[in-house]
Amino acid sequence: MQKISNLNTLKLFESAHIGVVIHTWDTSIVYANPQALNLLRLSYEQIIGKDSYDSQWHFIDDQYQRLNIKDYPVNRVVAGDRIQNKVLGVIDGSKERISWLMANAYAEHGLNESGFVIVTFIDVTDSHQGFSFEQIVENAQDIVVVTKSDKLKAPLGPKIVYVNKAFEKLTGYSKEEIKGETPRILQGSLTDKVACKKIHDALEEQKPVTEILLNYSKTGQPYWLDINIIPLFDRNGEVTHFAAIERDVTENRFHLEQLTKRNEDLKLLKDELKNLVAERTRELQQANEKLALLAYFDPLTQIPNRRYFVDQSTRLIHFCQRHEHILAVGLLDIDDFKLVNDKYGHDLGDEVLSALGACLKDFFRQDDAYCRWGGEEFAFAVVSTELQSTEKLCLRLLSAINAMTISSDTGVKLSINVSIGVCVRQANPNEPLDSYMKIADGALYSSKSKGKNRVTFASDVK
Ligand code: GH3
Ligand code: MG
Ligand code: MG
Repeated sequence: MQKISNLNTLKLFESAHIGVVIHTWDTSIVYANPQALNLLRLSYEQIIGKDSYDSQWHFIDDQYQRLNIKDYPVNRVVAGDRIQNKVLGVIDGSKERISWLMANAYAEHGLNESGFVIVTFIDVTDSHQGFSFEQIVENAQDIVVVTKSDKLKAPLGPKIVYVNKAFEKLTGYSKEEIKGETPRILQGSLTDKVACKKIHDALEEQKPVTEILLNYSKTGQPYWLDINIIPLFDRNGEVTHFAAIERDVTENRFHLEQLTKRNEDLKLLKDELKNLVAERTRELQQANEKLALLAYFDPLTQIPNRRYFVDQSTRLIHFCQRHEHILAVGLLDIDDFKLVNDKYGHDLGDEVLSALGACLKDFFRQDDAYCRWGGEEFAFAVVSTELQSTEKLCLRLLSAINAMTISSDTGVKLSINVSIGVCVRQANPNEPLDSYMKIADGALYSSKSKGKNRVTFASDVK
């Protein structure tokens, strides 16, 4: 005790934040500063005079293994070693808490019986987890790249100081060859410049950033990385490094591209189907229109057929009944049409029928009804208020037909005559179209028997 009181440093130890324990050569403790007592959770009386063989010590190494007495810092120094930054755990009396200490120890006043062993230690419990983060990072499946934070703007960019195994595996670069390089050597022609700029800007502002980026391996193989970069701060709050944690998402990307492509294909297919449906609908509409035409129009003459005429003239009958108008229903038959067919052929006969259809279409107005009744017979129904005008109309029709000239391809020109029978009736509620037709047919028969090319009226109108 006399000897150590000579040491100038003892006073300093009293207020130091570092724990200091002084052993004599036989490992007995002769001094412990307040911080040492504090860190070891012992009183001065509990510690002074105890040697390293005392049963109160429970030290463990950083693998949580009980430390051999010969490996206690003091014994190692007595054995001739110097202890530097050795981390060891001190188990509390309650055994529930471990304090982690980083110890240094050395011999003072020579390596002999008259020497001392000075052991100093600081508490590293907060930073010592008992396991190695480096081991975790080194063996993580994700890629970890640490760069310095300076030279961000330099053409070569920040320097890589650490990469883990996953990085080596994916890129093909070894730790040794990539250290000191810039991450930019991993980029290539197809790497998104906008994404790079976004990363650069965030790092300049020392902010974390997340991006998906295309990188290239040492052999030029492209791969997609989901990159998350965080700034690393030192004790003073300064950013010294950036750590990039990266995940290879090439496969996801591939699947995404496949899904996108499949979606596009589906969209195309949908559009095609839509077009097809639209086309089919159009065709169906056209077919329906054709059917309607077939149902109501005569295909040869392109004028209404008998069915259409029956419908329209029945409505005219009702109209005349309501308004007490006169209705004239006429039946028209081509004179000696058989001869036309016989002389010029059936085709020209058809042309005659078409020409007559066109003539009727021209002659009658919107509200009149007319049709090809069948064969070479045609029918019409017109409304009027007086008999005279109906008679005039029928005579004008006869002249119009007489005036027609039909020219064939072979240069034949011919004209036709027709016989007409007309039934003229004042509106009569109980008289159906059939009876008009029968009377008109009778009148037509009269026209034929009187020498054809004429109109015969059967009228009950005064
Ligand atoms: P009439 O003056 O007494 O009416 O004598 P017609 O020769 O006109 O009378 P008929 O009833 O004996 O002959 C009608 C002819 O009309 C018979 C038939 O071949 C012809 N015909 C009927 N429909 C068509 C047709 O669609 N095309 C052609 N080319 N001829 C037709
Ligand atoms: Mg006939
Ligand atoms: Mg005829």
